[in-house]
Amino acid sequence: MVKINPHFSRLKSPYIFPIIEEKLAALTAKMPASAVINMGVGDIALPLAPAIVKAICSATEEMGRQESHRGYGPSEGYPFLRESLAENKYHGLEISPEEIFVSEGAGNDTVNLQELFSLESRVAIPDPTYPAYLTANIMAGRTDSILTLPCTLDNNFIPQPPSEHVDIIYLCSPCNPIGVAMNREAWEKWIAYARQEQAIIIHDHAYEAFIHSPDVPRSVYEIAGAKEVVIECCSFSKSAGFTGLRCAWAVVPKTLPHNLHAMWKRRQTAKTNGVSYPIQRGAAASLTGEGKKQVREQVSLYMEQAALIHKGLRAMGHSCYGGIDAPYIWWKTPKGMSSWEFFDLLLEKCHLVGIPGQGFGPGGEGFVRLSAFVLPDKAQEALRRFRNL
Ligand code: PLP
Repeated sequence: MVKINPHFSRLKSPYIFPIIEEKLAALTAKMPASAVINMGVGDIALPLAPAIVKAICSATEEMGRQESHRGYGPSEGYPFLRESLAENKYHGLEISPEEIFVSEGAGNDTVNLQELFSLESRVAIPDPTYPAYLTANIMAGRTDSILTLPCTLDNNFIPQPPSEHVDIIYLCSPCNPIGVAMNREAWEKWIAYARQEQAIIIHDHAYEAFIHSPDVPRSVYEIAGAKEVVIECCSFSKSAGFTGLRCAWAVVPKTLPHNLHAMWKRRQTAKTNGVSYPIQRGAAASLTGEGKKQVREQVSLYMEQAALIHKGLRAMGHSCYGGIDAPYIWWKTPKGMSSWEFFDLLLEKCHLVGIPGQGFGPGGEGFVRLSAFVLPDKAQEALRRFRNL
């Protein structure tokens, strides 16, 4: 008889999104779906930038001609995209194109990278955080080796190095769900910790394009010593609207110990045939000229909504955080209300979907996350509804 992976039974409560979908379906059975404002799932609200569409279409046409057709590409990504990323994102930081691995998503990379490490590794994961890190490590069999890094108001929601040893550390900055980012000083502490403990940091940098604060590094490799201890995972999903196209990259420096660079290359070669040529052409278009300008405008629009919601809620006397270096607002629930109770209240009274903070870990209890991936009219309307709450 087939034996299943026993670790799946260690996964706790059901994933929250199906529950939210159910509640939303119950509401939209009573009213038009268009009347509901969705500030829940952090998915893009704007169409693809024209320069990206053009590049994808012309790459597809290229493939439709005998003389320029293409089959499998390199698993780690086409050189044109890796070179453009090295030049545009890591200029002056001495990251070579060979250290950049193109992939289908930062989500995929952050959960797959743990395969490089022993199952005995002790793993530190912030709480609250993007849930996939915990899920992947539980599925792999590390349930009893996970240390939680609390992100609370007391530490300005920034995870702090623990007083004990861990081997793998997940950090997400700017962070989903809280919407805050680690500054240079916070990073320096983590790099020092990782070097001392000979640990590896997996940095989820999916929101790098949203950084505005001058003291927040645009890449962790701006911090001395990071190239010996950090793998950085970035994405075109939120910065260039690729959530439905799928394209991202991970920087796995050659200077990491244990030949991790070669191991990751081996892993990718064995397990993926890469991202399609037109999508990589589209991604490359977002890094040049018109494309860069167009995606910057999109990011700015989302961040304007974040600022509007943040300021609006504060003006109404609510406590909320984030929204400066990431498109998320972390809203403290009114006194005595749980995350789910406040979620239900927002759904029933404002016809607005947020995400109960508790869905990102126990530390998220007492908060609701709002996504600023909305159009300006929706953000204005949301504020109007909050005023009447
Ligand atoms: N990491 C974080 C922190 C995210 O919030 C998300 C998506 O919401 C992802 C990764 C997924 O990124 P991708 O679409 O590149 O897989």
